[in-house]
Amino acid sequence: MKCLVCGGIGCGACKHSGWIETLPCGLIHPKVLEAGGLNPKEWSGFAFGLGMTRLVMQNYGIEDIRHLQGGDLRFLKQF
Ligand SMILES: [Zn+2]
Repeated sequence: MKCLVCGGIGCGACKHSGWIETLPCGLIHPKVLEAGGLNPKEWSGFAFGLGMTRLVMQNYGIEDIRHLQGGDLRFLKQF
């Protein structure tokens, strides 16, 4: 989706692309399948999820996702 932090002109939140991925998805790497005890020649996988932190970034205009996961209470107490 178009970055709501910068309006699509590019910023730190969208890595200066103007776009942000809110529903990341893709194929599971064969090494991950191996680590789970599955033969990647026999199995494949598709993973997806909803990036809640990315939606929060867009809603509050936060440019760096690390602020939400850093544990700095001065920052987190704003919400
Ligand atoms: Zn942006």
